[in-house]
Amino acid sequence: MNYYNLKDKKEVVDFRTALIRSQGKEKGLFFPERIPMFDPEFIKNLDQFTDVEIGFQCMKDFTGEEIPPDILRQIITETINFEIPLKKINDQMYILELFHGPTLAFKDVGARFMSRCLSYFLNNNNKKVTVLVATSGDTGGAVANGFLKTKGIEVVILYPKNRVSDVQEKQLTALGENIYALEVNGSFDDCQSLVKQAFADEEIHAELLLTSANSINVARWLPQQIYYLLALKQWQKTEAADPVISVPSGNFGNLCAGLLAHLRGMPAKHFIAACNENDVIPHYLKTQDFKPKETVATLSNAMDVSHPSNFVRILELFDHRFENLTESISGTSVDDDKTLQTIQEVYKNYGYLLEPHSAVAYAALEEYLTENLDKKGLILGTAHPVKFSGIVERAVKTKIPLPDALENLMKKEKKSFEIAPEFKALKKFLLRGK
Ligand SMILES: *Cc1c(COP(=O)(O)O)cnc(C)c1O
Repeated sequence: MNYYNLKDKKEVVDFRTALIRSQGKEKGLFFPERIPMFDPEFIKNLDQFTDVEIGFQCMKDFTGEEIPPDILRQIITETINFEIPLKKINDQMYILELFHGPTLAFKDVGARFMSRCLSYFLNNNNKKVTVLVATSGDTGGAVANGFLKTKGIEVVILYPKNRVSDVQEKQLTALGENIYALEVNGSFDDCQSLVKQAFADEEIHAELLLTSANSINVARWLPQQIYYLLALKQWQKTEAADPVISVPSGNFGNLCAGLLAHLRGMPAKHFIAACNENDVIPHYLKTQDFKPKETVATLSNAMDVSHPSNFVRILELFDHRFENLTESISGTSVDDDKTLQTIQEVYKNYGYLLEPHSAVAYAALEEYLTENLDKKGLILGTAHPVKFSGIVERAVKTKIPLPDALENLMKKEKKSFEIAPEFKALKKFLLRGK
């Protein structure tokens, strides 16, 4: 499969190049040259396939001949080596729990797939690869964990000092091995700007093979289709009608993957783009008026994005036709009060504990189902409540026990390198020993 640059359709690259370069000229996103359809018999009989086989059928066209079938199966086996259960919350609503991976958030799926593809492609390359990534919290942990102990790859993560949660910080700093955490004395924007400067620096490029693991990378975006199929496989065991799917959205990679799977033939009644108060997309879907505005901080901080990078991919999927788009998706914005109230009510009424991001998706789906009483739906549960224990424990006034793996992690020592928010500090670190 080839991929073209959405900013310049003449730039066409293979999967390997799209993966290593992450983005094309003028920071354009890569997009698959064609939309490969699912075999209808496969979709109808998902329960007859193993999860790994479902993942393989989902991804094989996108990696084509560049990754041999047995290697791709191995990569998928390692990508989804944790459970992804669909649980019933009440008569109308289910949740797909995507947070049983090593960093307790759905980003593990994309990060694990990407790291393994990269290490396959670089196997015969003697030059060491440096994966450089800036994080405001969840991304860094998933990337660090995805690449941990991968031969020939060094990961350098920049995070803003004092602005990530304790659990998030330990997930970045306690791994050691080939993972280096740089604690930047500044903001997330400073971290991002340092990373951009590094990619533009010729001296660094002469010494290192530098790549990025940000969420727009095709190898993080595309494998997210897999878990929609795993949801459907479980859904079809008890439900006859197609589900309404509510996706907590920030950069819109997750939702965009679901829509891609849908256009390939995966049935779904409707999609809901569930956002917090950063409502640029819900506003656009209601009015066709795209009006970026300042990002506001909310309880669901991984969705505090006001200019979502993946939205151009969604527009491309629907041929930039607004009517087609709004036939499949609607958008809902949920504020912090409603988010907290949802966490409380769902716990009280059904004994299910939501964290803020999943609570936004729940509230949006609930609103939709109130007007569509004959329908049923599912939400994507994107993080484990313990990752946001401060907020959740305050809301339900109950202590959440730490999972064993996290308890062990919290006992480990933090190891980070503190740097000033200046490019020369980052450059010195990257070129150390050269
Ligand atoms: C990243 C993230 C999201 C948003 O996902 P996008 O693909 O960027 O829309 C939602 N919830 C959690 C917990 C996240 O970490």
